[in-house]
Amino acid sequence: MEFDLIDRIRARVASRPDVILGIGDDAAILQVPVGRHLVVATDTLNAGVHFPLDTAPADIGWKALAVNLSDLAAMAAEPAWCTLSLSLPDSDADWLDAFLDGFLDLAARHHVALVGGDTTRGPLSIGVTVHGLVEPGRALRRDGARAGDDVWVTGTLGDAAGALALLQRASEPVLASACEAGPILPADDAVDPGIAEALSGLRPRLDRPTPRVAIGLALAGIASSGIDVSDGLLADIGHICKGSRVAAEIEVDRLPCSPALAASFGDDRRRELQAAGGDDYELCFSADPAMRERIEAIAAETATSITRIGRMVEGEGVRAIDRDGAPWQPRQSGYVHFAG
Ligand code: ADP
Ligand code: MG
Repeated sequence: MEFDLIDRIRARVASRPDVILGIGDDAAILQVPVGRHLVVATDTLNAGVHFPLDTAPADIGWKALAVNLSDLAAMAAEPAWCTLSLSLPDSDADWLDAFLDGFLDLAARHHVALVGGDTTRGPLSIGVTVHGLVEPGRALRRDGARAGDDVWVTGTLGDAAGALALLQRASEPVLASACEAGPILPADDAVDPGIAEALSGLRPRLDRPTPRVAIGLALAGIASSGIDVSDGLLADIGHICKGSRVAAEIEVDRLPCSPALAASFGDDRRRELQAAGGDDYELCFSADPAMRERIEAIAAETATSITRIGRMVEGEGVRAIDRDGAPWQPRQSGYVHFAG
């Protein structure tokens, strides 16, 4: 019965010339180009923890791959192959087909071949491993930032966390007691009229994050360090600071905001969502100020905003400041997970 499911998957996957042997044997065989390094990342999504229980199967499929491609993007690696470990409560072919619609749509956009995996029965959980390629020495790591570098972020921040906050408010039973660290953010000041309308603007960013693959690749040799924003901007910059033994000074008033987020929350709350909310999957990176023009050129080429939000300085830790230079404190830095 699991074999039927595997056959359904196998019938739909696209291949690449460097897949010597894909789905069907005990393991896949892949041709790694001579002179390039293999970059591997893996991330698991559990139902009710990493996505709301009412998430459409196609969106789950998209997101499961997107969060992994985002990790490759943050390393400036070119995606090539992936494997998929599926734990499914029952053998539901319709669910699988819809899941594959989202998963394989995103895979095709990035020419990623699904080359193997595992299918078991259990609580809904999706584990994906992605394999990418990078020129030796060109990967974007967390340990390369230097005092004096600018700090940049792609796209806009806070929509995904905003959607979660609204969901928590709108559907208590789905997202009842929130995360290990307490509610993600208290959903107390969403602008009426209508949570549903606000959600329709924000939820796409929660369900279908855009991995910034092209920007990540373009940043090789330009950025000094990079990370994708999955836990919350300030928390994630903290990882760069720790890895690079520098401190960061982030101007919260500069954080890029979507029109949908601005329309849905008051200014204070919005800033918290941008600075501390997770799940945006934007790229945050440091770069020497001499790179500003080249970074602006990448933004133009990829038609994606890239915003300078602060700088690296001597010391340790992340300092958020408002427009007057006064310290700014979110109610919590980096959200954990929500519970079903
Ligand atoms: P094995 O017992 O050797 O682990 P499986 O029955 O688990 O074999 O898998 C058979 C083939 O199908 C393998 O090539 C495996 O990689 C592939 N496969 C199983 N599940 C998935 C999945 N969810 N997605 C992609 N390939 C899968
Ligand atoms: Mg197996």
